[in-house]
Amino acid sequence: MKEIVLETNLSKSVIRCGSGAFDAYAKKYAQGQIYIVTDSNVFAIYRHLLWETFGNSFPVTILPAGESSKTYNYLISILKDMLSAGMRRNCTVIAFGGGVVGDVAGLAASLYMRGVNLVQIPTTLLAQVDSSVGGKTAVDVNGVKNVIGTFYQPAEVIADPRFLQTLTARELRCGLGEIIKYGALDGGILNKLLNNCDSLYKWEFLEDVIYDCIRYKANVVAQDEREIEGKRKILNLGHTTGHAFELVYRKKSHGEFVLIGMYYELYIAVKRGICGGQYADEIKKLILRVIKKVPSYQDVESAARYALYDKKNLSDKVDLIVPKSIGESAEIEIEFDEYANLLRECADAL
Ligand code: ADP
Ligand code: ZN
Repeated sequence: MKEIVLETNLSKSVIRCGSGAFDAYAKKYAQGQIYIVTDSNVFAIYRHLLWETFGNSFPVTILPAGESSKTYNYLISILKDMLSAGMRRNCTVIAFGGGVVGDVAGLAASLYMRGVNLVQIPTTLLAQVDSSVGGKTAVDVNGVKNVIGTFYQPAEVIADPRFLQTLTARELRCGLGEIIKYGALDGGILNKLLNNCDSLYKWEFLEDVIYDCIRYKANVVAQDEREIEGKRKILNLGHTTGHAFELVYRKKSHGEFVLIGMYYELYIAVKRGICGGQYADEIKKLILRVIKKVPSYQDVESAARYALYDKKNLSDKVDLIVPKSIGESAEIEIEFDEYANLLRECADAL
């Protein structure tokens, strides 16, 4: 078990990673006033563990599993239920689930009585390596992602790989999408991925690499908590193009779209002379270990338009973070037409 401390100007998060973290660190919250937020799948699998750990009378909101629970209606219902349950200013909200639960519960914790203690217990690989760390919370509005949200750091994150045992292969792939993104940013993680490319789904490997990814992310967030100075932008690698395809084609998971986006962005980086072909091939090899086939998307115009209006983009060009060399990435701005043409070329070569 390992510990990472993430300190920002206003807050401090302690992140516990590794097997045994849940048993060692969750129980203490039963001594205070807690409010648990989880989802229907996670509750069905882990209710006995929750009862053993926190007693069998804790107040809880069980969201329907899935993205459609990330709405302000559910947010408001959690806040109302917390009030009805008599939650006080010194209570602790425990987000026990994947990224959806973490986002909605985190937002509720940041709003209830102007902010109460928050503990994230991520149960998906994606939430462990990415969304539970860094303090972003949000709900969607009218299908538009993350419109209402806050930056609100959890006091503690308990990332225990025990929960990964019950995930589907699709959910593991989703988390691996983000892990490979970290590999494209950090040389140490990349080497580990390349040296273990036959055991990406293995328990021991995941436990080890989850720690590396969280440490990398915590370090970036500590330097630019609110994405103001630009450093946090680096974590968008693969996301601008991936998210654009996600908006056009839907269906696949977020992590798979991150991998697809990274593949297309690697093509652009090589064509633009930013990234060497050999280095790009190493990352592509990892991508293909997880998604087998990168789709040859034809509607590159629509995708390019989404990328142009990506909320993180302030100019009339497409803003991308692309891999450059081991442990190094570059930010590039690219004209709309050139971007669309390069996406088409990449799609045609697939
Ligand atoms: P993500 O974490 O991928 O952002 P979600 O929070 O929607 O997204 O979780 C993805 C799915 O995985 C949901 O259906 C959720 O109920 C389920 N889930 C979460 N944690 C576990 C777990 N440990 N075992 C099995 N299913 C889980
Ligand atoms: Zn992501």
